[in-house]
Amino acid sequence: ASQILRRTLGSRYFANQRPFSSVSTPIRATLFPGDGIGPEIAESVKQIFQAAEAPIEWEEHYVGTEVDPRTQSFLTWESLESVRRNRVGLKGPMATPIGKGHRSLNLTLRKELNLYANVRPCYSLSGYKTRYDNVDLITIRENTEGEYSGLEHQVVRGVVESIKIITRQASIRVAEYAFHYAKAHGRKRVSAIHKANIMQKTDGLFLKCCREVAEKYPEITYEEVVIDNCCMMLVKNPALFDVLVMPNLYGDIISDLCAGLIGGLGLTPSCNIGEGGIALAEAVHGSAPDIAGKNLANPTALLLSSVSMLRHLDLHDKADRIQNAILDTIAEGKYRTADLGGTSKTTEFTKAIIDHL
Ligand code: NAD
Repeated sequence: ASQILRRTLGSRYFANQRPFSSVSTPIRATLFPGDGIGPEIAESVKQIFQAAEAPIEWEEHYVGTEVDPRTQSFLTWESLESVRRNRVGLKGPMATPIGKGHRSLNLTLRKELNLYANVRPCYSLSGYKTRYDNVDLITIRENTEGEYSGLEHQVVRGVVESIKIITRQASIRVAEYAFHYAKAHGRKRVSAIHKANIMQKTDGLFLKCCREVAEKYPEITYEEVVIDNCCMMLVKNPALFDVLVMPNLYGDIISDLCAGLIGGLGLTPSCNIGEGGIALAEAVHGSAPDIAGKNLANPTALLLSSVSMLRHLDLHDKADRIQNAILDTIAEGKYRTADLGGTSKTTEFTKAIIDHL
């Protein structure tokens, strides 16, 4: 099981990158605790890293309360510079007001750092039973365009317009990444998820790019699946899929569906891949305002994200140690947070993981 998880969480996001571990010890990584439950689960990561003696020196940056004119967002220039310098980091969730207010901090981060692919592994955890025990999926989401381009306006009173942008450059880049990831991690199949029957131009271009890249990887089976059918197939039999690559909005939605197959958003990690070898890990979930500040959050998703960050840094011993402690704690069943049907507080669950190290 550990081998499968190691494969799933990714041993390396970039194949031919110089090893971080030879650069300096300890390794500096940027940490955004983020909003809502973010600081509580980031605290859990810090405590567990310290107990496991993971050689990471965190450079913490908080979301500002005023717009920084240099980034035109609540994200400070210094925090973006920190990620650019360290090339590796961990990010807590950042809240965005619904239907009004400032531009999403996540969008700003993705655009400023050119975080072009978001890798979202989702696999069944042994010891935590759901309808399936064989889920092992990787969603790779285009992260910079699609409906998330931020181009929205009112045409006339009562009519608004939102522009979906798909470019050849971004589509080829994410398709290349998906096939490269599949090959590097021993995966057999890449499915491009789309709605090109309706979105003929935009999703049509996305598919064309995926096909082009697929030709360079004859050892990997390539298929195209319409998104509505994909949802039905995933719910009926998730083993039908392996690596899924798709435009931005679909990736956002499908990965939450996948999370539901294995026990919920408290469990699913992700990593944002950027230009220049940047890897910024984060949980799939948001700031969970309904449980924020109550010591109820499940830190597993952010912890598994931090494990993938360690693997990216080639720190496999530490990654194995932390990952096994998390999975053993969940499998044992004595300490579980409320989202998994338990009664443990975030801090109790964190302590239990430390005891399993
Ligand atoms: P959410 O993911 O925050 O919460 C959805 C549900 O899942 C809630 O019931 C929540 O309590 C539960 N949940 C999420 N994470 C959990 C955890 N670790 N442990 C236990 N339960 C957990 O989604 P939302 O409510 O739609 O969004 C809230 C805010 O987060 C919004 O402002 C949204 O824009 C933002 N958001 C940010 C990110 C990000 O930073 N990457 C991602 C998604 C949403």
